[in-house]
Amino acid sequence: MSLLVVGSVAFDGLESPYGKVERALGGAATYFAVAASFFTHVNLVAIVGDDFTAADAAIFKGRHIDTLGLERAPGKTFFWAGRYSENLNERVTLTTELNVFADFKPRLPEPYRTSKYVFLANIAPDLQRDVLHQVKKRPKIAALDTMNYWIERTNADLLETLRHVDILMINDAETRQLSNEHNLMRAARHIFKMGPSTLVVKRGEYGAMMVDERGVFCVPAFPLEEPHDPTGAGDCFAGGFMGYLASAGDKSDASLRRAMVYGSVMGSFAVEKFGLDRLRTLKRAEIHARARHFAKLTQFEL
Ligand code: AMP
Repeated sequence: MSLLVVGSVAFDGLESPYGKVERALGGAATYFAVAASFFTHVNLVAIVGDDFTAADAAIFKGRHIDTLGLERAPGKTFFWAGRYSENLNERVTLTTELNVFADFKPRLPEPYRTSKYVFLANIAPDLQRDVLHQVKKRPKIAALDTMNYWIERTNADLLETLRHVDILMINDAETRQLSNEHNLMRAARHIFKMGPSTLVVKRGEYGAMMVDERGVFCVPAFPLEEPHDPTGAGDCFAGGFMGYLASAGDKSDASLRRAMVYGSVMGSFAVEKFGLDRLRTLKRAEIHARARHFAKLTQFEL
C-alpha cells in the first residue's frame, strides 16, 4: 500500500550540547520518507534547489522511496537552523529560509493520485491542502503535522486544511498553541471540532499520546542513555506510525496502537545520532527487536 508525503526537504544547521553541524541534510519529508520506507512504499512530493546534489539525493536511493514528485528548481533548498538546550528538551529556531518552497506549485505525478495513505508533513498549510486535493478519492487516512511557524503565520489556511484530515500529529506545545487549551484532553476535544477525529501528541522524552472517541492510548519514549540530536524525531515518529498503518492496511484500534509503538521506535532511533546518521545504517531487524523491547517495557499484570 503506498503512502504519499509532502513536506520539507531541507538543509539544517544544528547545535546541541553534543556538537554543531553547519549544514546537514534534513527536512520533515526526508525524515518521514526514510523512516516510513522501512514499512511500505513511499511517494515523495517536495522541491529542492540547484544546491541539492546527487550525493544528497542518495539518501532516497536503495529504499522504497519514489522521487518522481521531487521537483528541482533554480535557487536554494529550504534552510532551517535550530539550537537545543542543555537537556535537549527545548529548541529555538534560529533561521527559517523557505527559498524554493516560497513559489512551489506541486503537481502530483499520476500514480500518486490514487494514494490511500497521505501524510502532510510540516510545510505551508496551503501546499498541504493543494496536495491533498489532487488525490482523487478520499484517502483511507490523511494525517497532518505542523509547527508554531505555520500556526502563527498562516492560521486561517491551517484551519481550512485541518477540516480535511483524519489525524493531527503535533507536539504538546503546538497542541496547546493551536487549541488555546493547556490541558491536553481538553485540547483534544477542541481539535476534534476543527476536523481531525484522532489527535496524536508527541511529547519528546515523555513519549506520545493518542486520543480519539474510543479513549486514550499512551506509549513511552524508549529510555536512551545518550540521546544526541532530537531533530527529526517527530517526523520519524510519524513515518513509523503511518508506514506501519499503510503496511497493515486497516485503521482498527489494535493497528493504531501498534502504529504508536512503531512511531516511538523510529523516533528513538532518530535521536541516537546527529541528523539522519542513525537512519542511514538502520536495519529492519533492529526495528523489530526494539518493538519487542517496547512490549517488555510496558507489560504488567493486574
Ligand atoms: P522535527 O524535529 O521533527 O520537528 O523536524 C525537524 C525538521 O523540520 C528539520 O529537518 C527542518 O528542516 C524541518 N523544519 C523546520 N521548520 C520548518 C518549517 N517551518 N516548515 C517545514 N519544515 C520545517
